Amino acid sequence: IRKLLKDPSLFKEDAFINGVWVKASADSRFSVTNPATGELIGQVSNLGPQEAEIAIAVAEGAFQHWKNKTGKERASIMRKWFDLIIQNTQDLAVLMTLEQGKPLTESKGEVVYGASFIEWFAEEAKRITGAIPSTTANDKRFVVMKQPIGVCVAITPWNFPNAMISRKIAPAIAAGCTVIIKPAELTPLSALALAELALRAGIPPGVINILTADADQSVAIGKTLCASPVVRHLSFTGSTEVGRILMAQSAPTVKKIALELGGHAPFIVFEDADIDSAVSGAILSKYRNSGQTCVCANRFYVHKKVQAAFTEKFAKAVQEIKVGNGMDAGVSQGPLIEKAALEKVERHVADALSKGAQLVTGGKVSTLGGTFYEPTILSNVTSDMLITYEETFGPVAPIITFESDEEAIRLANESQFGLASYFYSRDIGRIWKAAEALEYGIVGVNTGIISNEVAPFGGVKQSGLGREGSVYGMDEYLELKYVCLGL
Ligand code: ADP
Repeated sequence: IRKLLKDPSLFKEDAFINGVWVKASADSRFSVTNPATGELIGQVSNLGPQEAEIAIAVAEGAFQHWKNKTGKERASIMRKWFDLIIQNTQDLAVLMTLEQGKPLTESKGEVVYGASFIEWFAEEAKRITGAIPSTTANDKRFVVMKQPIGVCVAITPWNFPNAMISRKIAPAIAAGCTVIIKPAELTPLSALALAELALRAGIPPGVINILTADADQSVAIGKTLCASPVVRHLSFTGSTEVGRILMAQSAPTVKKIALELGGHAPFIVFEDADIDSAVSGAILSKYRNSGQTCVCANRFYVHKKVQAAFTEKFAKAVQEIKVGNGMDAGVSQGPLIEKAALEKVERHVADALSKGAQLVTGGKVSTLGGTFYEPTILSNVTSDMLITYEETFGPVAPIITFESDEEAIRLANESQFGLASYFYSRDIGRIWKAAEALEYGIVGVNTGIISNEVAPFGGVKQSGLGREGSVYGMDEYLELKYVCLGL
């Protein structure tokens, strides 16, 4: 791997605590493999609860210093980190594609997207502003100040190995908090490379700590972090099931929590939609990262009048997607992350076909084998099929037809999830009504791409709690303190 990097020292296999690279006791390690080839690419330190306790103590110590730096000082260090990430985009992208599988161009896009949160929150660090409410008694004055919440934990998933980390820790450290990150066991290398750059940028020891661990040790570490009264905030992105566990585990210590959980995004094509534009949006929203994002469209509701035209053009565009190793030029869809992910996709497709869905294109494992799955479209889909209510996390687009706006909105809202939603229409009245009626945290209108650092990202219902990014994102990591001053 080192040979593929311009700067081989970005490849790290040890964990990162208190500004130094640490090994697990008895040098226990777990393997990281390339999902495109099955090759071993790293042997990463397999930490446990003991090291988690050390990280908590270290983060608590560092908090006493970091919180007392001015916002401007924190901003300047974070800005250096941002610059170093941008300078090393290529290497960070290569590491990401090797461990995660997404095409190199998508990896580069994620590095830049991830860095945008560091730049944004570095700027916001200078603008933490309290308030002086007008008094209710002439012998008193009131002050509301904002202070960092304390030691924060971030547990992150494999689908965005870089951006899910920066989106959580940038607002935390900008606010003056210190953080402990437990990256996904499938993609720890991107996290460790970010830590190396944080070190070079001058982020002080203990402000950012990374606990790498395999699946079993992640559960044990999760328990330790949740049980600690020192940890005041937990931010998690991943499955709804694990989110529930972490929420329950955080109850005894009454932690503040932020959860970005599963999604099941509806994508509605109304009868007045610009079909070509809807097709381009559908491709981006559905097939990016092989369908493995929580904002990927998972259900396509298409008006009966435009169903034939949309399906034909959509199928043509899907057939142009080039599946392959993300490191190869021209590849637009990589493998699925692991065998279990492939099996879920196969289960969803088999279930739909057995209940009357029709295959428009794809529908099987690619000729490349492994976990490569053909980009797929199913039509005649009905709401009794698994795919219409369980998150697929794969490159399969199920098409369901509808006949009225009310029906489309009702079907779209029939979900326990509420993260992203999309629709295409050119009618201003319909756009307003649909945007208001959709029970989702995010609504993409005439676009399939919605994420950026200036907009609040997050879901309603069982898709989670809180918002990341934007001017609202830092409040998560700040406590309000009310000071009542007698004159
Ligand atoms: P995904 O379905 O995206 O793999 P998971 O929710 O299984 O998502 O995992 C997301 C993150 O949560 C990973 O870092 C994983 O190690 C971690 N994780 C999974 N189960 C637990 C648990 N019980 N306690 C703490 N962390 C966990």
